[in-house]
Amino acid sequence: MTMQGVIPVVNTFFGAQVDSTSATFVVFGVPFDKTSTYRQGAKQGPAAIRAASQAIESYCLQEEIAADAALLPIADIGDVNIESGTVQSMLRGVESVVSQIIQSERIPVLLGGEHTLTLAAVRALPRDIVLLQFDAHMDLRDKFNGQEFSHACVQRRIVEQLGPDHLIQIGIRAVSKEEIEYANKQEITFYTCNAIRKEGATTIAHRINDAIPPGPPIYISIDMDVLDPAYAPAVGNPEAGGLTTSELLTILGVIAPRAMIFDITEVAPQYDQGITAIAAARIVTSFLCLQAKRRGLGQ
Ligand code: MN
Ligand code: MN
Repeated sequence: MTMQGVIPVVNTFFGAQVDSTSATFVVFGVPFDKTSTYRQGAKQGPAAIRAASQAIESYCLQEEIAADAALLPIADIGDVNIESGTVQSMLRGVESVVSQIIQSERIPVLLGGEHTLTLAAVRALPRDIVLLQFDAHMDLRDKFNGQEFSHACVQRRIVEQLGPDHLIQIGIRAVSKEEIEYANKQEITFYTCNAIRKEGATTIAHRINDAIPPGPPIYISIDMDVLDPAYAPAVGNPEAGGLTTSELLTILGVIAPRAMIFDITEVAPQYDQGITAIAAARIVTSFLCLQAKRRGLGQ
């Protein structure tokens, strides 16, 4: 089937086909970083993650998955066509592509791009969705640099749309007073990096999983700055004291099988020698394999 509003790319994720007709997972890129406030470059993220995917093993052994991501029914339909280059046109484009993928009962996998894209995807999803946001930051500012649609405000806009009990934040360690006051007032659930380090990733993962009743669909959104800059230095807003890649994969091992949509954002590849894009490609691959196990694919 043909998806409207995307431009095909030559180097796809894992060399996947462009046609989504027989795909369960539909990958697409969002090369946009206009509202980035510290270090721009996330618009190069999709290409860097795709390039890294060509260089890693597609087979997964994590959590006894034993699946080969390269054998899964994946399509990479290309990048969203962001016509005017404005944040509003990016939001419209992403919402439209996610809608088409969801309506055809496939799993969207978004490669960012700045984190603002998550708002657009949420707009295309059922209202009972539960968003698991992996991030050093809360992204709960009302406005940032005078803008209300920005990567620093994206979760605030999502809470306004879905309500505070639809958001769980994981890996938090860098907040403003405004954000923590808002989060406490709205009773938003969040797990700091310290709490995860103290109690262990497995314990926290099961607590999160048990807190979400069966039923509502789950959205996993990964801002790569959730990882410590030692593991992911090439992000827009690096913040020391973060998760290890292993801790993140451990948490995903518990909850990723339940997700109906996945995004990975904020890779700004020019700030390292490829380590961040390689980590991002591994995280996407693990997500695909965890989903595959649940669906009995790629064994
Ligand atoms: Mn962040
Ligand atoms: Mn973020």
